[in-house]
Order: sequence, then C-alpha cells, then structure tokens
Amino acid sequence: MNHDQTSRCTKASAVSAMWGREFRSYSGATLEQIPQLKKFSEADRFAMKVVSKVLPCRINQFVIEEQIDWERVPEDPLFQLAFPQKEMLSPEDFETMAALVKNQADEKTLSEAALRIHERLNHHPADQTTLNVPQLDGMPLPGMQHKYDQTVLFFPSQGQTCHSFCTYCFRWPQFIGASTLRFAAQGTNYLLAYLRSQRQVTDLLVTGGDPMVMKTESLARILEPLLAPEFDHIDSIRIGTKALSFWPYRFVGNADADALLRLLEKLVRGGKHVAIMAHLSHAQELRPPIVQAAVKRLQGAGAVIRSQSPILRHINDCPQVWAEMWRRQVRLGIVPYYMFVARDTGSRRYFEIPLVRTLEVYQGAVKQVSGLARKARGPSMSGGPGKIEVQGVAEIQGEKVFVLRFLQARNADWTDRPFFARFDPEASWLDDLRPAFGDERFFFEEEYAAMRSEAAAS
Ligand SMILES: *Cc1c(COP(=O)(O)O)cnc(C)c1O
Ligand code: SF4
Repeated sequence: MNHDQTSRCTKASAVSAMWGREFRSYSGATLEQIPQLKKFSEADRFAMKVVSKVLPCRINQFVIEEQIDWERVPEDPLFQLAFPQKEMLSPEDFETMAALVKNQADEKTLSEAALRIHERLNHHPADQTTLNVPQLDGMPLPGMQHKYDQTVLFFPSQGQTCHSFCTYCFRWPQFIGASTLRFAAQGTNYLLAYLRSQRQVTDLLVTGGDPMVMKTESLARILEPLLAPEFDHIDSIRIGTKALSFWPYRFVGNADADALLRLLEKLVRGGKHVAIMAHLSHAQELRPPIVQAAVKRLQGAGAVIRSQSPILRHINDCPQVWAEMWRRQVRLGIVPYYMFVARDTGSRRYFEIPLVRTLEVYQGAVKQVSGLARKARGPSMSGGPGKIEVQGVAEIQGEKVFVLRFLQARNADWTDRPFFARFDPEASWLDDLRPAFGDERFFFEEEYAAMRSEAAAS
C-alpha cells in the first residue's frame, strides 16, 4: 500500500467517524457549558438563562459548530434562531423571571411562574385542540388533526421533540412538557382505522416536533402499512423535519440512516410520493457539505424535498435572503413551498413584522428569481379559518386594501375567493385586519363562528 492510499484511507475513516458521531445537545440548564458563549458578558449569559426558563431551548453540537457563524454573532441568523434572546420576553415577564432566578427560587416556583407567562403566550393558537380533532365512531382521536379535506396530520408520540426549539413555533407547547397542552398519538391503529374510513384523504402529514428524531423502526410501523391496497387513496406521505439542516447525520452516517433511506425508497417503489417538508429559514443552513450530502441521499431514495419557513425579524426579513435561499434550494433540487407569516404564539413579539413589510420581502425576492424559484406560496397566515395568503396591496374605489385569499380553508368552498381588508401599515396578523369597504365582517366569519360554537357545545 503506498503512502497516498494510506492517507486517503485514514481520511475517509475520520470523516465517517465524524458523520456517525453521537448526538450531543444543550438545554437551558446546560447553556453554560457551551464554550462559544464565553464571548458574552455575564449579564448576557444570565439573560439567556432567564429566557430559557420560560421558552425552552435545545441546541446541538452540529448547529453550534457548523451552522452558526460565530464571527457574526449576535446578528448571525442561526444564532438568533437557536439561542434564547432577552427581548423574546416582555420587559415585565423578563424582570419577574430574572428576580426568581437571581434569588435561586426552587424549580416548583420557577415552573409556576413560567406557566403563568405561557398562558399569556397563546400556546394553542387557531383552536388547534378543539376544532381539528378527528373522530372515529364518536370517539375523539388524540394525536391527529384533520382540518382540510385531503390532508390528515399525525403527531406520533415519539416524535414530539425537535432538533430546534424555535420559540416562534406553534409547536412549542409540545416542548415544555405540560402534558395537557400536548397532543401526541399513542400507536398507529387509530390512525390506520381513521385513514381507512376517509377515502377523500390523499395526504398523510407526519409531524411533531420532528418525526425524524424517531427511530426508523417506529417510523416504519406508521408508514409501511400504507402500502397495503386498502390505502391506495393515500398518494403522498409528507414528513416535516428540521433534521436536514440541524442534524443531517440522520440521513448520512448515523447507524440508523441507511435503514431510513431504505424505508423511504420502499414507500416510493410502492407507489407513494414521499415529500420531506424541510424547515429552512436561511440559505446559510444549506451551506455545510454534509447537509448537501443529506439532500442528495434523500433524493436518491426518490423523495422530493420541499421547504417552508416563516418570515422572521432578525433572521430572514429581507428580500435578498429569500432570493438567495430559493436559488440555492432550486440548485439542490429542493422545491420552495411555503412562506409563512409568524404565528400569534410564543416569542412572536421578537420576530413579528408588519404584513406590509412581509409583502415587500416576498415581492422583492420573487422578482429576483426565475420561475422555478418562485414556487413558494405565501406569505400565508395559518389561522383558525384556514391558510390566508396576503396577495398584495391595491386601491379599489379609492380605498387602500390588502388583497387576500384562502389557500386552504376549513370550508373548502372558501378557497381561492379573493377578499379584502382595510390597509393597515401596522397589522401583522389576521386578528389585526378589518374588512374593507365598510363591511362589518369578512365573508367567512359568521360560518366560522357557528363552527366554533358547535365544537364548543359538543
Ligand atoms: C398547512 C396545513 C396542511 C397542508 O396544507 P397544504 O396546502 O396541502 O400544504 C394540512 N393541515 C393543516 C392543519 C395545515 O395547517
Ligand atoms: S418544528 Fe420547525 S419551527 Fe418548530 S421548533 Fe422544530 S424546526 Fe422549529
């Protein structure tokens, strides 16, 4: 063996050892152990600790070492996304928690105080827990949601954590451990029985948390049965995940990676469309070679990766960022799918931007890219009545208005019908909008109110 070959071998094994490396992650309690945070003052680190007592955090070694650009911290977008920031809490809430932490209050006192703050942070926006729970023979099925005709959401109980605890995520109650706030399914029998009974459903969306934190074996128990002829009506299997950019080893190098790829391939061969719904908020997330390797492997198995993200202040509230992200995605064969407006939950106060700015970002980004990169729908507000897209600002009969339409609606008949809200430069969510032209209500409001009171009564 000549020297050249030896050195190549050593290099190869070093790489695979790294790719297969153990998952190490940090929570609020262990933030102090992250060496990179030493560059912050004691006050800054204390603030992170205080915020993490209210909004849980979880940051892994890969994100710290390969995703965050520490030269650019604190402005670095992925630092902003992953680490607790002082202004995520209102000044009053911050002071309350800070005083308790300073006085070394016990865990019980801290968690009670946190709970009081959570209650104000709208932990189940858009009536998630009451309106969308499907039923089988009159029995509600926890761990599932069925809001739009074609798509059933499944929340497997082992998948209720995530590689990132984005504090703007409507899933954050899943991460704080308050069991009454979680919905998580135990076992798959109910799921299969329900899908069997719903012939109009074409899509199963497995979500969490992040189902990619689950072992392949557990995922297979959910997905393989769908290859049986009785589930011919299920065309597409979607899996929502942050693992692609925050723990790509799930797809490359981890002990369980090959089995996962084989599972996806089997589903594709069996005639299903496998869609990986990647949570990607910035082009920077696609930079590490291992992320690109994970993309290629998933595509090699026949899966199509689509991307979605909310638009967020401090992270991606600028047209160039989206244009660059979409271009890089298209180059990797990833299909841009959704741009969301940050939801009315969690740390929204830190990330929210006015709808009018959101539109500027969307329109500013779209005009810089080719048609292939213009596939993201949005900006879309996912609220109780449905997914409402903000299409633009127009002047109609002398009144300045937002032009809106449902991309998805609780009543399918509402879909795609344009409607109008009074222009408001400060509005940042559906609740802030009022009907245009002096109307009292939006066209769907009466029916939606009836649906809500019906659900409350049952
Ligand atoms: C977004 C969403 C879906 C999927 O909608 P598509 O337009 O098909 O991507 C399904 N169910 C719920 C509850 C959703 O919020
Ligand atoms: S599910 Fe997505 S948005 Fe929510 S915490 Fe995980 S990565 Fe963030």
